Amino acid sequence: MYDYDLLVVGSANADLVIGVERRPAAGETVLGSDLAVHPGGKGANQAVAAARLGARTALLARVGDDAHGRLLLDSQRAAGVDTTGVLTGGAPTGVALITVDPSGDNSIVVSPGANARLTPEDVRAAAGLLARSRVVSAQLEVPLETVVEAVRQLAGGSRFVLNPSPPRPLPQELLDACDPLIVNEHEARVILGGEAAGPAPEDWARALLARGPRSVVVTLGAEGALVASAEGLARVPSVAVDVVDTTGAGDAFAAALAWRLGAGVPLAEAAAYAARVGAAAVTKPGAQESYPTAAEVEAL
Ligand code: ADP
Repeated sequence: MYDYDLLVVGSANADLVIGVERRPAAGETVLGSDLAVHPGGKGANQAVAAARLGARTALLARVGDDAHGRLLLDSQRAAGVDTTGVLTGGAPTGVALITVDPSGDNSIVVSPGANARLTPEDVRAAAGLLARSRVVSAQLEVPLETVVEAVRQLAGGSRFVLNPSPPRPLPQELLDACDPLIVNEHEARVILGGEAAGPAPEDWARALLARGPRSVVVTLGAEGALVASAEGLARVPSVAVDVVDTTGAGDAFAAALAWRLGAGVPLAEAAAYAARVGAAAVTKPGAQESYPTAAEVEAL
């Protein structure tokens, strides 16, 4: 009955990366490596991650009518993502300007560009796409009101998954729709605001669940994850791997989790699968370039 296992509503950015010996101070110019341009943005990353695993995936996003926009469309299509929901124009494609020094520390400037022009109206115009999707997944690199509109347009049986990144306080309507709300420690703290939730991830998970979501997943990097729902709390072990680059691991985790939940897999089991996907993603450089196929997840 659904044409898509997953519809991702979110951002698409070109990541422009230059390696430098030392990141420049104010007023300073430094020379760097050749420029590398990678497709990125949390929405685009999630869509590629799900499609690589075999999910029937669509992306609702906005890019500029420019070379970066074409790069993003190409990388989505190459991964097998349906791009009929990717709108073009209104502003340049979103860009992240990234300098990385030899220790791996980086400085990043993001120009949201077309991502900031993905409007609630765009979501309403894509109501058909939403109605044909079993799970809808969002992040916060597009306007909050756009994500809220996606929740309002959800078909009766569809599930909504949110990774509130970059984090900010969330309206109740959005919190109530999440099943699950997926957060790392930093995102958990911002969403809980000043609330004293206690020192342990278990405390944050309980406090977040009390805010309204039907379920909560706290990702803990190399420590795995934690799931919380009315059925209780459970730890999800991480998979021990040699870490090469953790960029985009959270996006791969969220996409894999959303896809497995849509297939009817219970939360703790879906999160365990997502942890394997996240672990596979950290064993290779880059974000989208590092995402595993289902066979590679099996082999891990
Ligand atoms: P974010 O990038 O959003 O902070 P995390 O770093 O918590 O997200 O990564 C998401 C998931 O990817 C983790 O819950 C874990 O399952 C997996 N993961 C991340 N880093 C590692 C690692 N070093 N080793 C194994 N698994 C990892």
